[in-house]
Amino acid sequence: MTDSATPLELLETPEPAAIRDWATEHGILILAHSYQDGFLQEAAHFVGDSLELARVAAAENPKAICFCGVHFMAETAKILCPDAEVFVPDMDAGCSLADGCDAADLARYQEHLTQKLGKRPVTVSYVNCTAAVKAQADIICTSGNARAVVDSIPESDPILFVPDKHLGGWLNETTGRNMTLWDGACEVHELFSIETMLEQKAAHPGCIILAHPECPAAIRNASDFVLGTAGMLKKVKAAKGETFLIATEANMIYRFEKEAPQNSYVPAPGASCACNLCPYMQLNTPEKLWKALHERGPQVTVPQELMAPARQSLERMLAVI
Ligand code: SF4
Repeated sequence: MTDSATPLELLETPEPAAIRDWATEHGILILAHSYQDGFLQEAAHFVGDSLELARVAAAENPKAICFCGVHFMAETAKILCPDAEVFVPDMDAGCSLADGCDAADLARYQEHLTQKLGKRPVTVSYVNCTAAVKAQADIICTSGNARAVVDSIPESDPILFVPDKHLGGWLNETTGRNMTLWDGACEVHELFSIETMLEQKAAHPGCIILAHPECPAAIRNASDFVLGTAGMLKKVKAAKGETFLIATEANMIYRFEKEAPQNSYVPAPGASCACNLCPYMQLNTPEKLWKALHERGPQVTVPQELMAPARQSLERMLAVI
């Protein structure tokens, strides 16, 4: 069987390891976010959160990247590896946070705040934003390094934090800053209900609740630890025989079970409910990955004029932590 002689639609999608080997032979690096399903995680050369994958992309500097995640993540890889072909399994895999912060609206708001404060605020953007917003921000952060990024900004500087109001609210609580917050949210983390959390806590006596900072305050306040995905992974790896109630995208549990199988994991709000799965991440499938690898597309591009300023914002983040 040769790829050129066989219509692609007739090719059976191989097992994850065979996909990864095929990609290696063809000079393609597969990156997968921890919110992708187990098959895509197994097929990837690297699995991680936004910060880990940004670092891998920058360090490996590959000729081609197939990014199993959502669009803004592939844009980030393109910005950090401008010479690489970057493509995705599904071009429609977006993000409610990124979609909720339009660059033109942000420019108007930055100007409004500058007039109001008599000083231009430092714009800190969570990495879940478009390349155009990254280019307009002063520095980027992820959930894993957000506190360090905010702490790196002088106390005397006002800060505008975009686009996640929940992560921003948590940062205001934990750093003592009074950042102005953009009114955006992740539709997945907003769906957790405090009533369900408390029911599940009662059903699993002694469980430890880990909540992502993208969760609303009521969920964070009912949790034992508020951590980004990398922080959660560190926490469960260090634990021995605990039960964790996990308030983040449910596919994260695949990675926990693989890397810290000594514990039990319960997704919030519950295994019978699929509302804690990201609908955008779910658009990526093994078949689409296999097709994208063969076609080296659809390709993600970033307008040339955005590349340098967006990269500068990302590099400022990478310099902090
Ligand atoms: S889980 Fe939320 S923040 Fe992450 S990609 Fe999906 S919609 Fe965006």
